[in-house]
Amino acid sequence: MKRVLITGGAGFLGSHLCEQLLNDGHEVICVDNCFTGNKQNIIHLMDNPYFEFIRHDITFPLYVEVDEIYNLACPASPVHYQYDPVQTTKTTVHGAINMLGLAKRIQAKILQASTSEVYGDPSVHPQPETYWGNVNPIGIRSCYDEGKRCAETLFFDYYRQHQLRIKVARIFNTYGPRMHPDDGRVVSNFIVQALKNKPLTVYGDGSQTRSFCYVDDMIEGFVRLMGTGDDFTGPVNLGNPGEFTILELAEQVLEMTDSKSEIQFNPLPHDDPKQRKPDISLAKRELDWQPKVKLEEGLVKTIEYFDNLMKTQ
Ligand code: NAD
Ligand code: UDP
Repeated sequence: MKRVLITGGAGFLGSHLCEQLLNDGHEVICVDNCFTGNKQNIIHLMDNPYFEFIRHDITFPLYVEVDEIYNLACPASPVHYQYDPVQTTKTTVHGAINMLGLAKRIQAKILQASTSEVYGDPSVHPQPETYWGNVNPIGIRSCYDEGKRCAETLFFDYYRQHQLRIKVARIFNTYGPRMHPDDGRVVSNFIVQALKNKPLTVYGDGSQTRSFCYVDDMIEGFVRLMGTGDDFTGPVNLGNPGEFTILELAEQVLEMTDSKSEIQFNPLPHDDPKQRKPDISLAKRELDWQPKVKLEEGLVKTIEYFDNLMKTQ
């Protein structure tokens, strides 16, 4: 049994990871300031004696004793990370410094939830880890993109300077139950809009692409990455290589929900990447990992989740 710290553990991905690690027989300390996550996501774990919740903001130092740290704390949806961009940079950069400092003091292994956003609006397609990206340093997405890039820099400097055991995952768009219904991400937006028979808001002409990974596959990738030998640091892409235009996603959601909604075209936000698809050769080779859940299958479970949520609200 290991003692594991998960920052951002009350969020979408964090809550699934808490559940998985408890099921695997570990002790979990979940740290979250509940900015975008909430206790409802982890309420079913509260009675478990091996689970502990600490309300804390990782931009301030934290003192706990653990074997492993998964650093997930950070709002992930553009609407939320742009709400208070200065705090987003503080969370990504000061938060990383605090968690790396903690890992150094207690000699814990530490995994960073990085992002495909480090590739910006990519000119190489699909994106391998060797691509350095095309990121605007002063735009509305920069607080997140550059913050996550700086966090990767810090992870590798702690690795080189202090021989810390690090793992860096570059996460591509992930969806599933427990996404926040109002967080503005495309899968949750379309499903909630379709279930309410409201117009589906496609930004731009909907020709931009994304690759969508179901949450269970992503959690499996995190655990496998943490379990690799000390000589493997990543960065490693984790995501589903299936690529869809946003318009295709809208049409699929409409069909699967049997919705009467229409499609409404809204302006494309600034710096919205035109295309995104992970090259996962490294994850296949080093983690023996690839996603198993097809988009349609994952959407069925996600639609069911939002349908139940709306019935109980
Ligand atoms: P989420 O918003 O549901 O979860 C993030 C959690 O971090 C929330 O519970 C929030 O309250 C908490 N948090 C934010 N700032 C904090 C702070 N300063 N101190 C403590 N807690 C704080 O998002 P998610 O989708 O679960 O994403 C988790 C991680 O994965 C994030 O780091 C995100 O950047 C990364 N990621 C996610 C995706 C995706 O598609 N879901 C893609 C790329 C990267
Ligand atoms: N998008 C959209 N309608 C929405 C929400 C998002 O067309 O209601 C688009 C958005 O412009 C982007 C894609 O869907 O091109 C994915 O957006 P999301 O915010 O989910 O993630 P990210 O842009 O960070 O990949």
